[in-house]
Amino acid sequence: MNTPAHVIAGLWAVGHGKRAWAPVLAGSLLPDLPMFLFYAWQRGWLARPDSEIWSTRYFEADWQLFFDAFNSLPAVMLGLLVARWIGSPALRLFFLSVGLHCVLDLVVHHDDAHRHFLPLASWRFESPISYWDPAHYGRILAPLEALFAVVGAGLLMRRQEPLPVRWLAGGTLVAYGAALVFALVYWVGPGAAAG
Ligand SMILES: [Zn+2]
Repeated sequence: MNTPAHVIAGLWAVGHGKRAWAPVLAGSLLPDLPMFLFYAWQRGWLARPDSEIWSTRYFEADWQLFFDAFNSLPAVMLGLLVARWIGSPALRLFFLSVGLHCVLDLVVHHDDAHRHFLPLASWRFESPISYWDPAHYGRILAPLEALFAVVGAGLLMRRQEPLPVRWLAGGTLVAYGAALVFALVYWVGPGAAAG
């Protein structure tokens, strides 16, 4: 699933209020963080082309391990146990948010699935549906995910939320709105005739 949808899902479902939003936000971002670092390194530092990055570099074993280590459900369970042990509500929210991210990804990744059960097992669940791959209902899932993010952001805007959450929700609505306008112009507007 795309990162903005993860952020909205976490903020909406895991916990709200003054003390909750920061650990929930951090937890919803963490599993995707290694991918951003990978891309910054490959594109920004090594100046490799996107085609090479996503077709070969992304699938190298070391990078895969790096991504998957941040998507480990056993690590989430351990984190929740530690949070309970030391009595930290913030840590609990953080790991619940990481866990939600992982479970949502588990459902909508096909051949790009993470090994969510490392280090206990390196099995990956290849879901029959994908949030992007047209060969696995991606054409249906992608707009559904966008709808999910927009509705979630709308619900967050209506809820009594701290200012940073309102900004994130508002920013999400603006970004998806802009993407929709762009898509409409491209697919049905003058851009369609040209392209
Ligand atoms: Zn993810």
